[in-house]
Amino acid sequence: MSAPLDDLMMDYPLTLTQFFERSRRLFGKKTLATRRPGQPLFRYTYADFAERTRRLAGVLRDLGVRKGDRVATLAWNSHRHLELYWAIPLSGAVLHTLNFRLSAQDLTYIINHAGDSVVFVDSSVWPVLAAIRDRCPSVRTIVVMHDGPPSVGGQAGAEVAAPADLPEYEALLEAAAPVREWPTLGERDAAGMCYTSGTTGHPKGVVYTHRALYIHCLAQAMTDSFGLSETDVILHIVPMFHANAWCVPFTGTMLGATQIFGGPNPQPRDICGLAQAEKVTFVGAVPTVWIAVKELVDEEGYDISSIRCIPIGGSAAPRSLLEHFDKQVGASMMHAWGMTEMSPLGTLSRLKSYMRGWPEDQQYAVRAKQGYVSVGVDLRIVDDAGHEVVWDGASMGEIQVRGPWIIRSYYDNPESADRFTADGWFRTGDVATVDPEGYVQITDRTKDLIKSGGEWISSIDVETMIMGHPKVLEAAVIAVPHPRWVERPLACVVPRPGVTLEPREIVDYLRPRLAKWALPDEVVLLDAVPKTSVGKFDKKVLRERFRDRASKES
Ligand code: AMP
Repeated sequence: MSAPLDDLMMDYPLTLTQFFERSRRLFGKKTLATRRPGQPLFRYTYADFAERTRRLAGVLRDLGVRKGDRVATLAWNSHRHLELYWAIPLSGAVLHTLNFRLSAQDLTYIINHAGDSVVFVDSSVWPVLAAIRDRCPSVRTIVVMHDGPPSVGGQAGAEVAAPADLPEYEALLEAAAPVREWPTLGERDAAGMCYTSGTTGHPKGVVYTHRALYIHCLAQAMTDSFGLSETDVILHIVPMFHANAWCVPFTGTMLGATQIFGGPNPQPRDICGLAQAEKVTFVGAVPTVWIAVKELVDEEGYDISSIRCIPIGGSAAPRSLLEHFDKQVGASMMHAWGMTEMSPLGTLSRLKSYMRGWPEDQQYAVRAKQGYVSVGVDLRIVDDAGHEVVWDGASMGEIQVRGPWIIRSYYDNPESADRFTADGWFRTGDVATVDPEGYVQITDRTKDLIKSGGEWISSIDVETMIMGHPKVLEAAVIAVPHPRWVERPLACVVPRPGVTLEPREIVDYLRPRLAKWALPDEVVLLDAVPKTSVGKFDKKVLRERFRDRASKES
């Protein structure tokens, strides 16, 4: 009989503890910073961060937080929020990032459903919690982090300051004894949770294991992924409550990168100012943010060319935006697709080496797609009949994924069992094609597709095209009912400031670019496209607004 051959490597648990301890030892001199409105950046070192995170773990212990307890944050992006990102999971508890832009009703539901026992809240966000705290019986402790006066969520004139008798973060930290020995954790232990702002029904909880985050961080840092390294200067603008700011604060800390947090309510001018002054190399955000930044750079001439990579996702990025940032700003965008349920990374649009010699037009056509699947994720496209479709760039179907950082089940939500297939895949609800090179192109969310006279029209296709018009700032396309064709597209367009735009100009612009039946019958001009709590176009609101608008064309 031969000697045992299999399983001779250590069964080492993949937990965030390993990343934290390694960073603490290696990168003590590196910098972390937070923007403070009207003041210079707050700066400290990784050594300070590590010591404060250990003290924060001492605070959690003193507050009676136990393994598996849900500890919530209601906070802007800051170094304190980063301390919570690490101290909570490393203590064995579950970091629950709350989106303070949700309605009071949704937020109350989420806190109660998760059973949060402690909430760490920025003083500037206090009015949001003040309005609902009586309806959240599981919350036994609230800790206030003083970051400024109330500025979010309160009605004008009705903003309330956090009560002085609530425990305060810095005072608790000061008084606590640091934790020097972290508890031993299993890699399948829950580390964090995040609720998706679903469009139907209640929000659903996604629970990240240590293992999922660990593997996701490694994959995200890869050169062919976000290509992050210790040398990067990362600016965090994606809210830390939105899919863990796309997981980048975990990956950045793992690597010892310089990290700058956007602080309370960062505006395009803050992003440009910080990027220019701090020589930022990496900053992600949703397209609506970059559309606003583009306008500002054009008007005021910031030099943000230090940025080597702008991951852009959350919704489709128009090709015209990628091109503008390359040519006028000198900062390269990388289109990516993912979801809260996917930690969030799914696909990234990088050119393959041999595509670099292709004509420019073809290169942009590739880069405007959502890209090919990340290492670690399996992806297939399945049609209505349940068959996998071919990668021909034309056949459409739902994207289904599986992998070590993809959700297996929502938290305590049996009604959502239909989001998972019998053979172990997650049904994303996104409709896409994949071309023979493997580049995924998102056509729509299932619910946003427009079915007109038996033909599918991709609202994303039409709106990204409209946003290529030089006079257009933003565009969202929705379906309106039609007696003959069932649905027809309606384009909601926001002109760039100071320009005169006629709806007819949009239709003329689209005519040579689109099939006749995909041309919007009507173009309405708006001052702004309504946005969701994470800055995406809110088509639900638009659909509601134009519900009774029957299409004009017969
Ligand atoms: P969230 O969980 O809030 O991040 O939302 C995930 C959803 O955003 C996905 O299911 C897509 O519908 C959409 N999304 C994310 N990235 C992109 C992208 N690059 N292009 C188009 N849609 C996207």
